[in-house]
Amino acid sequence: MYIKSIKLNNFRNYSNQEIQLDKEINIFFGDNAQGKTNVLESIFLCAIGKSFRAKKEKELIKIDEEKATVEIEFEKIDRDGIKKNKVSEILGNINIVMFSPDDIEILKSGPAKRRRFLNILISQLRPQYVYYLNMYIKTIEQRNNYLRQIKELNNPTKEMLKIWDEKLAEYASYVFNYRNEFVEKIKDKILSIHKNITQEKEEIKIKYISDCLNKEKYIEELEKNWEQDILRGYTTKGVHRDDIYIYINGKQVNIYGSQGQNRTVILSLKLSELEIIYDEIGEYPILLLDDFMSELDSKRRENFLKSISNAQILITCTDEFTIDNKMCKTYFVNSGKVSNRLEK
Ligand code: ATP
Ligand code: MG
Repeated sequence: MYIKSIKLNNFRNYSNQEIQLDKEINIFFGDNAQGKTNVLESIFLCAIGKSFRAKKEKELIKIDEEKATVEIEFEKIDRDGIKKNKVSEILGNINIVMFSPDDIEILKSGPAKRRRFLNILISQLRPQYVYYLNMYIKTIEQRNNYLRQIKELNNPTKEMLKIWDEKLAEYASYVFNYRNEFVEKIKDKILSIHKNITQEKEEIKIKYISDCLNKEKYIEELEKNWEQDILRGYTTKGVHRDDIYIYINGKQVNIYGSQGQNRTVILSLKLSELEIIYDEIGEYPILLLDDFMSELDSKRRENFLKSISNAQILITCTDEFTIDNKMCKTYFVNSGKVSNRLEK
């Protein structure tokens, strides 16, 4: 799969910008705060349906403008082997894997970041997942409102809670099943990927932790926690607390691992994501490397790019660099304008 062109209109600091992309490696150079990441963000938005950094959608619209548009023209092999081109209306059609220095948060920060990692992967491949997840979140909010009502009114009838529990468990089991399916896929991929990177020195293990392994048990669990939930005014058990534990040689990596071990785990996770998407759609997703290369020396950059050489890659970087043995298209980004530097 590859993107042919991107058109940005009043998106972030871009007024009107068209970018023709190369099928292989595209490097965006420029000083800080010029609009490099904004280009990747526009692609991410079209693939996932939301930004990876905006708290409110309004932030994406150029200041003082009414609306923003992003148009992406891409080519993808469809499952019947017929090529198709589509402009816009692309949600769920473009597949991406993003690499950024912030990825380390997946391990170092709380479980929300790990759920987000799963959500981004699953939502690209199973659009229904987004629906069930949203319904789950909505139901939790309704149940929480009801819990607070019971407390405020000192209302002893809890019959309605049973109904909310049933509904919540229904959506929770969909969310659980999708997550479980994808954690299994990650397990299948990551062991050999990680062994390769660490030259067989490290064995990685992944465990999916959830309150909702089984629908009936989850309903019982909810009921057991009624008093506590009413007292606190929120739902304590559910897939909104799911987590993934990652072990290296038997020890939890985010607690006991070195910095290098944590970084390597992130790389293995991302490469697993890449292979899972490849298996599902029969071609490589587009890779978005935000400031990622600046952390690697030139040898590692080359090795890394070799290991993913079949995908279209977009790289942002502040220092100009070239990649031996591989020609790439480079762009210069300066205050919301992208210009071509070197053509292939
Ligand atoms: P760095 O190298 O520091 O990561 P970058 O080139 O990746 O920088 P971006 O994050 O792409 O920078 O863009 C940041 C620029 O976009 C800033 O100058 C910021 O003020 C501007 N910007 C962000 N949102 C908007 C908006 N809604 N309207 C106008 N400008 C915006
Ligand atoms: Mg940036």
